[in-house]
Amino acid sequence: MRPVQVPDLSAREVYAACISKTRPKVKARLQALTEDVVNAASEFEVAASAADLHRLIDLKTNPTDESDRAQLTKNYTQRLTNKDHPAREIYDELKIAGRLCPLCAHRDVETLDHQLPKSLYPLLAVVPLNLVPACRSCNTLKSDADPSSAYDQTLNPYFDDISKEQWLFARVHEVAPACVSFHVKPPSSWDEVLAARVLWHFKVFDLAELYGNQAGRAMTSLRYVLKRKAPSTIPAYLKDEADGGADEDPNSWKAVMFQALANSSWYINGGFALE
Ligand SMILES: [Zn+2]
Repeated sequence: MRPVQVPDLSAREVYAACISKTRPKVKARLQALTEDVVNAASEFEVAASAADLHRLIDLKTNPTDESDRAQLTKNYTQRLTNKDHPAREIYDELKIAGRLCPLCAHRDVETLDHQLPKSLYPLLAVVPLNLVPACRSCNTLKSDADPSSAYDQTLNPYFDDISKEQWLFARVHEVAPACVSFHVKPPSSWDEVLAARVLWHFKVFDLAELYGNQAGRAMTSLRYVLKRKAPSTIPAYLKDEADGGADEDPNSWKAVMFQALANSSWYINGGFALE
């Protein structure tokens, strides 16, 4: 859940690039839909910035013609993503805006995720603000999810920036070997909708499992590191690692893991060594 700079690309120019090489008959039909696409993009921008995507119901039935809907979808599947199509450079530009997948903040960006699925909202198939850089796992996990209220809208990294405050926390489990689990604790400054959305996002993208697995691996290595340290130096070492990681990203699983370990007297006083 990392913010991404809003792309400097208009819906009109991306759409024009996508339909530029289509056959004359198809092109004429797609050109006739240009203003519908531009208007849909404006509606999407307003709704996405207000967690109002569930109100864009009218976009689902526009256009009504099945062949028009199919051609709009092909703008993404056969044109924007096609390595031999001139619009492909736009796809690559959108992808490169995020190094790490902004949805999980862990894996590499490999594709673009439609915030509102192209299968249901064909007018938004190549609208830049609806195309979020993502890893394949996040793209697959979200699939064709369609929000039914403000509360079940996953975060859009162009509009939602929750990187400044800590909302991710971990709990140490006093077992052998030691492990941590992750959870969302919304800051008091968040409103009810944002808190619900982040909890939903955390659930949809299985982030508790992803971060828990990563932490499990990291803690196996950490056990050997800590065993070689003088016991009196362990608290400061864990705190340094937590603070260093939090400087870069207070919600990185690693920084949060070190924070939880640094706060656990059970872990510091020998829990770390249990196998
Ligand atoms: Zn991801």
